[in-house]
Amino acid sequence: MIVVVGGGLTGLRAALTIQESGQQVQLIEGSSNVGGRVTSQEIDGFTIDRGFQVINPGYRELERLDIRTHFHPIPAGAVAMVGGQWRFFGDPRREIRTIVGALPSIASNPLPFFSLLRAVLVARIEEGESAATFLHRIGISGEIYGAIVEPFLRGVFLTALTQVDAKFARRVLRSLYRQVPGLPDGGVQALSQELRNRLKSIQCGELVHEITRSGKGFSVRTESSIISARKVIVATDYSSAESFSEHLPHINFARSTAWYFTLEDPLPMQHQLHVASLSSGPIVTAIDLAAVVPSYSPDGRGLLSVTTLERCEESAVRGQLGEMYGEAITGDLITTFDIDNALPIIAPGVKRSGIVEDEGLIFAGDYLTEPSQNGALLSGRLAGEAAINN
Ligand SMILES: Cc1cc2nc3c(=O)[nH]c(=O)nc-3n(C[C@H](O)[C@H](O)[C@H](O)COP(=O)(O)OP(=O)(O)OC[C@H]3O[C@@H](n4cnc5c(N)ncnc54)[C@H](O)[C@@H]3O)c2cc1C
Repeated sequence: MIVVVGGGLTGLRAALTIQESGQQVQLIEGSSNVGGRVTSQEIDGFTIDRGFQVINPGYRELERLDIRTHFHPIPAGAVAMVGGQWRFFGDPRREIRTIVGALPSIASNPLPFFSLLRAVLVARIEEGESAATFLHRIGISGEIYGAIVEPFLRGVFLTALTQVDAKFARRVLRSLYRQVPGLPDGGVQALSQELRNRLKSIQCGELVHEITRSGKGFSVRTESSIISARKVIVATDYSSAESFSEHLPHINFARSTAWYFTLEDPLPMQHQLHVASLSSGPIVTAIDLAAVVPSYSPDGRGLLSVTTLERCEESAVRGQLGEMYGEAITGDLITTFDIDNALPIIAPGVKRSGIVEDEGLIFAGDYLTEPSQNGALLSGRLAGEAAINN
């Protein structure tokens, strides 16, 4: 028997890999349902994801899984407030080429489309260079950087671009350029549920407290039982994983706060992601999710999802929304929650190992690959393969 601790995407993928090999596997999840950071809940009939996140069905690890869920695409393009007006620009996650549409209006000396694209996607990156240094070095600076590129990417990485490895940032941009992300009916958790439905043996609501060596295997102690295992994969979040090993690499995390409001009126350019510059207040991104996936709303009202990096007062968020859209547009606050370890930060020059093995215990998670669903699924698959083959 192989035990997998933690039922986020990493643990689900690890358990599935083992099950497919024909070996016995038991997944143990501490909370009442699987999904971890990819969960959703229903509040007042609205679908509320655990922070704004999108699913990119073109992720290599999702393609391997042959996911059948339908994703409503996030329409190409995003909008930013430039010079007091909302202006459209290309969303690099779908249409990096449409950035060119905004250039004449926002930059005094616009870069030609092909050189911008080539610069971002193929220019040489120095070892250990940050995304900010790289973008400045290839000439992306001034208004296009401050009003559009930096806020957009800060919304993706949830941290300043000076903190992010340039090669990693480019990999993310490439994948966003090539594929169309979206969201399913029922919220992001539809993805975790699809994986859950494929697994035969899952125990939810059981926190694992202790893992000890026992003979050639392990003893896994939960609140209500002790399970013997030949192998154990620890696929928990990083802070829980640290309680099972002292030999994990040190990882810094980005945090964010998610805010959900009803909307009294449609947003300008309501189907698109809106980004806000650092100087304009705490908001990084805002989007009407019900305009993208109508079933997120029970009654046709808009569902405004706002992301801030710092915890701040509701009045600060409402104040900035008022400046962005006018006072009357934002309705009730449905809910808000803090996500303290939202995304592991890939600092400039840092390499990740995919999994870590510590005296036979296998550790997996997005913190050992990349901060994304793809990174979690990859680490889970690698951990499952390592457990099968050892
Ligand atoms: C706000 C936000 C936005 C994001 N946006 C995107 C995006 O747009 N695109 C993208 O690809 N990715 C995005 N991500 C990243 C993605 O969600 C994560 O990389 C991925 O979900 C991590 O999965 P995981 O399984 O490694 O960890 P987690 O999801 O954290 O799962 C760990 C699981 O372990 C369980 N657990 C912990 N301790 C124990 C214990 N002792 N016993 C039993 N169980 C335990 C937890 O309950 C949890 O279910 C975003 C994440 C956040 C938070």
